[in-house]
This record gives sequence, structure tokens and C-alpha cells, in this order.
Amino acid sequence: MTVRMRLQPEAIGSGMTSQRVRDRLVERLREKGIVDERVLNAIRTVPRHLFVDEALATRAYEDTALPIGQGQTISQPWVVAKMTETLLETAPSKVLEIGTGSGYQAAVLAALGLEVHTVERIGELLRTARKRFRTLGLNVRSKHDDGRIGWPENGPFDAIIVTAAAPALVDALTAQLAPGGTLVAPVGGSGGQSLMRLRKDADGVVTQHDLAPVVFVPLLSGMVD
Ligand code: SAH
Repeated sequence: MTVRMRLQPEAIGSGMTSQRVRDRLVERLREKGIVDERVLNAIRTVPRHLFVDEALATRAYEDTALPIGQGQTISQPWVVAKMTETLLETAPSKVLEIGTGSGYQAAVLAALGLEVHTVERIGELLRTARKRFRTLGLNVRSKHDDGRIGWPENGPFDAIIVTAAAPALVDALTAQLAPGGTLVAPVGGSGGQSLMRLRKDADGVVTQHDLAPVVFVPLLSGMVD
């Protein structure tokens, strides 16, 4: 009992968030098929434990989704890696994310040197995410809005990532994707979705590909404080 008590503070401190623990996550992602070294490096670098509540920090480098409040979740690292890797295939510079949540996915994209624009409908989550961007010195443009309309004033975007699930791809978002660009989004109902990749060629012709089964929280309408 005494030993367990003494070990606890250490586990909450550097131990469970150390470089060694992060390296282990990166090795797991590699085993699960993530090959892009730029993405693996970004995952190694961005401190995921700062994007969850302190009480969950010890679990931040497990390959699992975690609650972030307001009924929302920070995506599983493999999903973040897979979506990021897919977007990088068409060499984007300007990216739109729908569903800022904790800000982790946006931070990974910003760490890769991309110009990130992100939209979140829950004000409370966005305020916390903005603080994290500031603390980490990340330049991310963000907006409190219903992301189903995208961010038309700032578009078109070379890549679009939707991190909440809808029954079908959202036309307004596809419209804001530049020719030659990639959009990734979970498509399906509340039980589970397909991670879809949509590509728009230079002539504007669209093709779709099913990447993997995933589970996301739903894309909802309207805004909340
Ligand atoms: N990318 C996030 C994942 C957050 S979960 C991260 O890295 O942590 C999905 C997020 O999408 C939630 O925060 C939810 O509030 C948000 N969301 C759902 N519907 C939305 C909409 N219509 N517009 C903007 N954000 C939305």
C-alpha cells in the first residue's frame, strides 16, 4: 500500500508522459501501419497529455480516444495519424479542420508546418483549445461556428479534415476543397463509420475511397457557448 502511494505522484509526473512512453506509442502506430515519418515525428513531438484533463494525463500516450468534456472525445492517436498521413499524400499547405475539440489534431497539423484553420461549435472547448495553442506557440486560426458550412471566406483549402461523423459527406465542405486536394471524413451513423478519403483532381473530378472502420462523435448542427 505504502509503495503504491509513493509511486502515484511519479506516475502522474514525467514518468507516464516521458519521451520513452511517447516513443512506445510511435512504435505501436508503426506496427499498425503508419509509415510517414513526418507524421510519426509530429506525434512524438506534440504533448498529447496537455490536450486532456490532468486526471487523464497518465493515459495520454495509450492508443485510445479519451473524454474531453461536453460529451466529446480526443481522437485515438492511430486515427489522427491515419487521417494526417492521408492528407499529406497530396502535399497540402492550407488545411481546414471541422471539430477542433481538444485542439490536438490541429496541433499535429500545425507542427507539420501546415497553415491550419479549424472550426468548433462548442465555445467552451474552443476557448480551452485556443489556450493550448497559445501555450505551445502554435499558429492556428480558429472560429466558433457550425462547421458544416466550412469557412468559405478563407477557402479554398488544399486539404479538409472532418473529425465528427455525418451520414454523408457534406457538400459545402467538398465545394471548399481545392482541385488536387484531399478531404478525409468519417461517414456513417452513430454505431460506427467508414473513414472516407475524397480526392478532387485538377479538373475537379471527385473520387472516393474507404480507408478503415472508425467510431467518431456526431457532427451536430448549430452552436453552443
Ligand atoms: N479533432 C478533435 C476531435 C474532437 S471530437 C481533437 O483532436 O480533439 C469532435 C468535435 O467536433 C467535438 O469537439 C464537437 O463539438 C465538434 N463538432 C461536432 N459537430 C460540429 C460542427 N457542426 N461544427 C464544428 N464542430 C463540430
